[in-house]
Amino acid sequence: MSMSDKYRFGTKAIHAGVEPDSATGAIMTPIYQTSTYAQSSPGEHKGYEYSRSQNPTRKALEKSIAALENADYSHCFASGLAAIDAVIKTLKPGDEVISTNDLYGGTYRMFTEIFQDFGIHFHFINMSEASNIEKHITNKTKLVWVETPTNPMMNIIDIEAVSKITKKHNILLCVDNTFSTPYLQNPLDLGADMVMHSITKYIAGHSDVVMGALATSNRKLSEKIAFIQKASGAVPGPQDCFLVLRGIKTLHLRMQRHCENASGVANFLKSHPKVEKVFWPGFKSHPNHEIASRQMHDFGGMISFSLKENTQEAATKILKKFELFILAESLGGVESLSGHPATMTHSSVPKADRDKVGLTDSLIRLSVGVEDIEDLIQDLKQALS
Ligand SMILES: *Cc1c(COP(=O)(O)O)cnc(C)c1O
Repeated sequence: MSMSDKYRFGTKAIHAGVEPDSATGAIMTPIYQTSTYAQSSPGEHKGYEYSRSQNPTRKALEKSIAALENADYSHCFASGLAAIDAVIKTLKPGDEVISTNDLYGGTYRMFTEIFQDFGIHFHFINMSEASNIEKHITNKTKLVWVETPTNPMMNIIDIEAVSKITKKHNILLCVDNTFSTPYLQNPLDLGADMVMHSITKYIAGHSDVVMGALATSNRKLSEKIAFIQKASGAVPGPQDCFLVLRGIKTLHLRMQRHCENASGVANFLKSHPKVEKVFWPGFKSHPNHEIASRQMHDFGGMISFSLKENTQEAATKILKKFELFILAESLGGVESLSGHPATMTHSSVPKADRDKVGLTDSLIRLSVGVEDIEDLIQDLKQALS
């Protein structure tokens, strides 16, 4: 019986992949800061030859992430984008990819400014109705790329409904699960073939590491990814793997508090006279609330909101007044952060396109941290006053 089947999430977060060190009994997996491994005779070794291919600290982390995502295999990369890069490298020139149109900016940039030039074609579509995907499928479609909740509009895509379509057409489905984390959502259980994480965010959780991961139960796919990882070389170092292993031990506790605090913040903002609209899937009025309730265990720590005074100046004034919600890129750390998508993460998207999806000039995105909720509300109050 595997760790995945036997234990619940919190127990897996603390124990999966981590065993007392065979040499010393050390409870924490050591940082195996080594590039290479002694061989007793040519080709005879203990499963480790060179740290681009395998490293024991990384292996422990990969086992942990596989267990959290109910996957058989996982591979960790030097960044979230390096993990996405490996997925696209499984494709060939002429292949087509269907992707969400409301996508992490860095993923969009890689698809359009790197891989398009290598002859891979990308279609960015609205997936709020999964059936919309079918119209765009051709015999060259090899991959569907989903991100849910989306950034920064918090739209929800029905993973199970999408997977029914991709299975029917024999197309690979990969879900970027960064915003949800495996605590809230397990895409493989909903029919996806592969799940991707920017570990940088909630999984590491302390804003001190940049890393990515893929997880799958498809052995062939895992072998392909392992080959690309070794051949292309975007691997994380053992020290960073150690930090992530440490962060994962509190993932369930952090996520629980992120969700509680986000709920408090979302409800406060909703009733504030200066706020126009709050984007958070936990509201019954959210257009995809029902799907979110079905496929997620809770609604996460990310919130966006727009102002009645819909200008960049009005947003900037608030962002500069925050004391706790530090203005910074990234998300998912224990500390609360704020951001201005129109000028930060989504500045490369034309204004007309931004307005169309609701990404207006006054939109502010919050990554709600795990501080005391009373202090977070107080900070919002003074910044909005
Ligand atoms: C941050 C992020 C990425 C990219 O990950 P990096 O670790 O920064 O390379 C991809 N997808 C989403 C949803 C993200 O938030």
